[in-house]
Amino acid sequence: MNARSRDNPKEPFQGAKPGQDVESLADFSLFEQEKAVMRRSEQMLEALDAVADGVKVLAKAYSESYRAQRRMMRMSDRMQADLQDANRQLREQAEHLAQLNNALSDEVRERERLTAELERLALEDALTGLFSRRRVMDCVEGMAESIGEQSHSLAVMMLDLDDFKALNDTHGHAAGDFALESFAEILGRELGAEQYAGRMGGEEFLVVAADLNSAEAFALAERIRCAVERASLDWKGDQLSLAVSIGLVVTTDPWPDAGELVALADDLLYRAKNEGRNRVIVQMHGQCG
Ligand code: GH3
Ligand code: MG
Ligand code: MG
Repeated sequence: MNARSRDNPKEPFQGAKPGQDVESLADFSLFEQEKAVMRRSEQMLEALDAVADGVKVLAKAYSESYRAQRRMMRMSDRMQADLQDANRQLREQAEHLAQLNNALSDEVRERERLTAELERLALEDALTGLFSRRRVMDCVEGMAESIGEQSHSLAVMMLDLDDFKALNDTHGHAAGDFALESFAEILGRELGAEQYAGRMGGEEFLVVAADLNSAEAFALAERIRCAVERASLDWKGDQLSLAVSIGLVVTTDPWPDAGELVALADDLLYRAKNEGRNRVIVQMHGQCG
């Protein structure tokens, strides 16, 4: 606004044309200025409104962004918690798996031990350490088949301790076990290479020997019988006397049926029992010389 015009309206307006009514010019100028101020004000208000609108938009965007960030932070917190939880569960499962693995390894080791024990029991007599019935029968089978190829003869002995029940009854079962172990030791001492002994059951044993002629096989059986008879078995201060009866088959013929060969030795054993015990009954097959 022109201050001079406002302070002194009577003073001619600088921009007035000659002859123009000063009064109306002043009114006109004042009016125009007011209008200009109003327009300017309006423009400023409009501009302010625009600024306010802009600020509102900004504030809205800011608040939305703030809410989105808060949401994302909450999501991130939740995800972190979920991740930690999943991690903890994984750790627990890994520990559980390790425990299961250890238990499984123990189980496998125990099974291997039991399997080895079963195999040992299947092959070895637990009390005497001699071959099991199955193993010594396998020996007879293999050796009987190969007569004439890997050996020229086979001797099969069935041995049964005499009056063993009486020994048990007199001295007790533990004394009987001791006598069985001692008998096995005697067999071990008397037998050489290619000669095997197994426990058939109770106080009954089987010996199988390759490449002996009939005299040698009989001599071996006699040596066993005499060693048993002479054995000095001290059981807690008591002397145990032991004797054994033996049925012996010697053959140079191949014998595919090992069971039959053993049954033959068993028949001879019972003949030995019937003929008074503590003796060897022998039978030859083929050219046993
Ligand atoms: P025989 O002269 O006719 O062979 O008579 P025996 O008394 O030896 O035969 P019997 O069949 O009448 O008795 C065998 C005994 O062997 C009975 C049984 O208790 C005993 N016996 C079998 N196995 C074992 C064992 O592992 N340990 C002990 N201590 N005794 C056993
Ligand atoms: Mg007996
Ligand atoms: Mg018997």
